[in-house]
Amino acid sequence: MSFDADVIVAGGGTVGLAAAAALAQAGFAVTLIERAAAPAAFEGGEVDARVYALSPASVHLLDTLGIWSAIAAARISPYRGMQVWHQQPDEALRFDALPDQPLGWIVEHSLLNAALWAQAGEWQRLSKTTITETRADEDGVGVTLADGRSLRARLLVVADGPDSPLREQLGIDSIGWDYAQRALVAHVTTEKPHGGIARQRFLPTGPLALLPLADGRCSIVWSCHTTLADELMALDDAAFRLRLGTASGQVLGAVTACTPRQSFALRLKHVPAPLVPGAVAIGDAAHVVHPLAGQGVNLGLADAATLAATLAAARADGRGWWRARTLQSYVRQRSAETVEMLAMTDGLHRAFGGDALLGRALGRGLSTVNRAGPLKQWFAARAQGA
Ligand SMILES: Cc1cc2nc3c(=O)[nH]c(=O)nc-3n(C[C@H](O)[C@H](O)[C@H](O)COP(=O)(O)OP(=O)(O)OC[C@H]3O[C@@H](n4cnc5c(N)ncnc54)[C@H](O)[C@@H]3O)c2cc1C
Repeated sequence: MSFDADVIVAGGGTVGLAAAAALAQAGFAVTLIERAAAPAAFEGGEVDARVYALSPASVHLLDTLGIWSAIAAARISPYRGMQVWHQQPDEALRFDALPDQPLGWIVEHSLLNAALWAQAGEWQRLSKTTITETRADEDGVGVTLADGRSLRARLLVVADGPDSPLREQLGIDSIGWDYAQRALVAHVTTEKPHGGIARQRFLPTGPLALLPLADGRCSIVWSCHTTLADELMALDDAAFRLRLGTASGQVLGAVTACTPRQSFALRLKHVPAPLVPGAVAIGDAAHVVHPLAGQGVNLGLADAATLAATLAAARADGRGWWRARTLQSYVRQRSAETVEMLAMTDGLHRAFGGDALLGRALGRGLSTVNRAGPLKQWFAARAQGA
């Protein structure tokens, strides 16, 4: 049987791109298929509305792929502390970085994807086309593209995002629910400097994050019930800034400017068995978590790194790297972290957003955690995606 590639990666979001690059680096012949146009080269200018808080583990992967130094030179914002609170900022749970290691880095989605797309590795990139049909079994996978082309490979990596049409086509089941919440995203200028601290307040209506940007502004992710989100989206700029100042407890003083708001629907999705013979799902195609911990991309990048390492190890041992047994080994390695993150984010969302009394008790609990070494370490490790 002849193959056009070892692996076809469907979806060129951050996770699919990272998987393609990592697999190519491990010596696999890779073809990536992305529905949208290739990402434009990063030229600075206005900061992208979508930014991610990348963990040290994610940055390690990008470094291994040879692109982190270019990303860092372009525009990143390391953060050296985190503050999480409920009622009063002075009751906050605080994390501080070690002198030589930031807790994480705020990186723009467009910069990340442009760097991954331009990564020096030899893998084929096909943009502006989709997979319309798939036939996967233990011996390989065949795909038909929208332009009529057919490709065959040993393995299909499904990285086509939370709605994942391919997951549906392949009959991979998912479970989950809508949070009936939306996340409002914008960049804001505040009266006081952010000081390189990532902040999050757990309001009864949902969490509000203020992430420090390199230009001194903060990127906000304000999650709240759909009705409130609609109301906030409809406010004029001045009224929105006032509401945001109040919601943030004026932790950085008044909000003096704000970019146009965007909003995203929030949901949880869990894919208990993200594989069928010949195909495996990763990234948001395999798990969608509430953004309150800012871990979606970090989980997906860990999927990409683990998948590449698992397939490479199987091939080095002379085992069938594309076989179900190898894919099951990959899934076993990733399921504990994924399920823990789904449970943690969902649990925090419910605890602070549901019962007011429980929320207040937990709010007081945050300052207790602040004083309790081991518990705090657990929170810190999870916050950093470790
Ligand atoms: C408001 C908000 C804030 C967030 N903040 C953070 C954060 O701070 N840190 C963090 O780690 N995560 C964060 N996340 C989560 C993060 O955005 C996602 O986890 C991440 O984008 C998932 O990447 P992905 O590549 O798996 O999927 P996607 O980014 O959805 O990419 C999927 C790709 O597949 C392509 N595609 C779809 N269908 C097809 C097809 N049929 N054929 C070919 N291509 C196809 C799409 O065009 C797209 O490019 C946040 C999410 C939200 C909503």
